[in-house]
Amino acid sequence: MCTNITSPVLLQPSLPMYNLTRGLKMKTILHERCKFCLRLWVNGRMYIKCKVHPRHNQVQRQKKELRHKLFFC
Ligand SMILES: [Zn+2]
Repeated sequence: MCTNITSPVLLQPSLPMYNLTRGLKMKTILHERCKFCLRLWVNGRMYIKCKVHPRHNQVQRQKKELRHKLFFC
């Protein structure tokens, strides 16, 4: 028995889907990595945006609030 498995649909290479957009990196200390990086302050957080190199986008990490706060009256 011989089955024909060489159909053109099965032989097409499947290319991986690359995500061209990059997210924001969470960092505690932000650095401007090139001359096109811009510093922004939005809602008390510092952002660094870069239009030329999207990999430079960064966000300042927010401090964790203490879960168990002690209140003294
Ligand atoms: Zn940059």
